[in-house]
Amino acid sequence: MTIVLPQKADIYGLTLQDLTGLLAGWGQPKFRAKQVWDWLYDSRVDSFDKMTNLPRALREQLDGAYRLGALEVDAEQHSVDGTVKRLFRLHDGQLIESVLMEYDDERRTACISTQAGCAMGCVFCATGQMGFARQLTADEIFEQALYFARDLEAKGDRLSNVVLMGMGEPFHNYDNSIAAVRRLMNDLGIGARHITISTVGLVPMIRRFADEDLQVKLAVSLHAATDAERSALLPVNRRYPLNDLIAACRYYVRKSGRRMTFEWTLINGQNDTPVQAHTLGQLLNGLNCHVNVIPLNPTGGFEGDPSVTARVEQFIAILATYNITATSRVRRGIDIDAGCGQLKSKVERARRAGGDDTATVDLEDALPE
Ligand code: SAH
Ligand code: SF4
Repeated sequence: MTIVLPQKADIYGLTLQDLTGLLAGWGQPKFRAKQVWDWLYDSRVDSFDKMTNLPRALREQLDGAYRLGALEVDAEQHSVDGTVKRLFRLHDGQLIESVLMEYDDERRTACISTQAGCAMGCVFCATGQMGFARQLTADEIFEQALYFARDLEAKGDRLSNVVLMGMGEPFHNYDNSIAAVRRLMNDLGIGARHITISTVGLVPMIRRFADEDLQVKLAVSLHAATDAERSALLPVNRRYPLNDLIAACRYYVRKSGRRMTFEWTLINGQNDTPVQAHTLGQLLNGLNCHVNVIPLNPTGGFEGDPSVTARVEQFIAILATYNITATSRVRRGIDIDAGCGQLKSKVERARRAGGDDTATVDLEDALPE
């Protein structure tokens, strides 16, 4: 059973206009709203008490009525490579994951979730194995990045990049994902080119996204280069087969003038063969793209192993003969279950608390026309 606790309103849910109206109603001078706004989104403080240029009485009034964020940190793990993985508890008890990756070149990348669970059922994915629970609101998506930005700010550091590559399928929650992306750009000041949306390949949404004319980057999870093999891994391929998908990708690249990325999870002996690499090379012929290969993170519900290094290198070398650049993504936070959905699975297994918030949703019902 989920216990829903009463709570204060979330201050990050207010627009600058809302805040201006609120503070005017409280008899505050006009400039106060901008001061509070700057504390929230520029200085990124984590308490009203730290808003030191506000009168104490106002700080207390704000604290009595609002909270700084709707997410509760439920569990956190720190990797030896600096990666931080967080499990957030939402107001209704749902758990979602976010990851912060720190790179030597000063990139600080937050990987955030767009849904609690996922309806797409990709067989090797821990989130897919859980099923779908609910859509996240735009605020819930946005705040995952904001919390990391806040922590980094406290250390004199800055969040530089955001990827929508955590739990869930961003294009199955299209409007909220795009609204969150707009807030990342407008409120947190993250440049569009430093934001990436990763999709399993919902064709109508890829076309719609191309038409948004945002400079945000697109990654498509491919994982196989024939329909039979892709459908076996990603059930969504039966609805949107490769021909339609690649045509939508070509449309995006033409429309945006941008290079796009394909994700390819390498599973030993399955999709890492020279034949697959050649088929992929032919499929992507002439498309301005980059391929990210990542050896599989093993999950409980899928019997497969990551490809060995020699196979990864061979795969990349074959793609190079088609003039396709490919890189092997470093597996970050592998010691802390940083694969999508893996921390949540582990925590839930450990707690075995009974009660299941996850509903099973038919994939067909979840897909756009
Ligand atoms: N739903 C979106 C974004 C979230 S998944 C999508 O599918 O693109 C982010 C990436 O992680 C996808 O490329 C997905 O295929 C990959 N992934 C999921 N489970 C994985 C696993 N066990 N090992 C390696 N990559 C995995
Ligand atoms: Fe969903 Fe992406 Fe996992 Fe597939 S890989 S089940 S689309 S989160």
